[in-house]
Amino acid sequence: MKITLLPYAYFQGAFVPSDEAKISIATHSVQYGTGAFGGIRGYLDRSGETINIFRLRDHTKRLMNSARLLRCNLPVDAAGFAKVIEELIERNNPKSNVYIRPYIYKSGIELSPHLKGIDDDFAVYAIPFGDYFQMETPLRLMVSSWMRIEDNIIPSRGKISGGYINSSFAKDQAEEAGYDDAIMLNRAGKVAEASGANLFIVRDGTLITTPVTSDILEGITRRSVIMFARDAGVPVEEREIDRSELYVADEAFLCGTGAQVAVVGSIDGRPVGSGERGPVTAKIQDIFFSLVRGERSDSTYNDLLTRVPIRP
Ligand code: PMP
Repeated sequence: MKITLLPYAYFQGAFVPSDEAKISIATHSVQYGTGAFGGIRGYLDRSGETINIFRLRDHTKRLMNSARLLRCNLPVDAAGFAKVIEELIERNNPKSNVYIRPYIYKSGIELSPHLKGIDDDFAVYAIPFGDYFQMETPLRLMVSSWMRIEDNIIPSRGKISGGYINSSFAKDQAEEAGYDDAIMLNRAGKVAEASGANLFIVRDGTLITTPVTSDILEGITRRSVIMFARDAGVPVEEREIDRSELYVADEAFLCGTGAQVAVVGSIDGRPVGSGERGPVTAKIQDIFFSLVRGERSDSTYNDLLTRVPIRP
């Protein structure tokens, strides 16, 4: 998926043309993967008048936690970072859905993998963005032979750049075998997550997802889905999931900023339930998409959106 950046990026403390936001080949984060990124969506409101950024403060807060893992000292906090992102969207004034990529990184030019005492910086760019997965037909997933990196190797709860090599291996394996994406198991052999999304299954009307201690990213969409489901009266369990439960589930879906809420039709060639979108998944998708597009007539969950006005 080749991408085109929106005209302005935030780089080294200023808003600059995106093609000027460049770093040295010798940068610590380039060599060692010692950066962390965010992925945030802004949806064009149905009125066409605002970009609705989904859970901006939660994203910048998680990024600050990744910064703590990497021992980064940054000149902004989560609130300050959120302001920079809002201003970036204002300046770019996009007329379509966008995907926003904040990045915190070891910007020093140094030759040692240590974390402490290396210069840090942060940057943001954004791109126009539609769907990450094809949404027309249910996804076909496989259980990867690549194991999810565990907390004592590279913590999955941080969105750490270097850790994504693990996702890359699993994603390539799945795509080359003709699947849309991979589900990774953790070192305990339990279900962790997909290469870039969290996983939910439904069994007998209960929505089930792996706990944050199962070597998963602490997904912000995941947290939202749990809230939407509980508010809608759907029972939710956060607990370990066995591989074989994937084969007997009634429904399954992936969720994440890129994935949004995407129906899973089969896993390892075995249909999940009917193989089509089930009722619990439909309910969650309806709440999610109506909210982000500004289509809800009530004000429930309005505080999850940061509305950035766009100029005609
Ligand atoms: N897991 C992984 C590995 C991811 O890359 C993502 C995408 N950020 C997610 C889960 C979903 O997280 P979120 O809902 O915060 O985007």
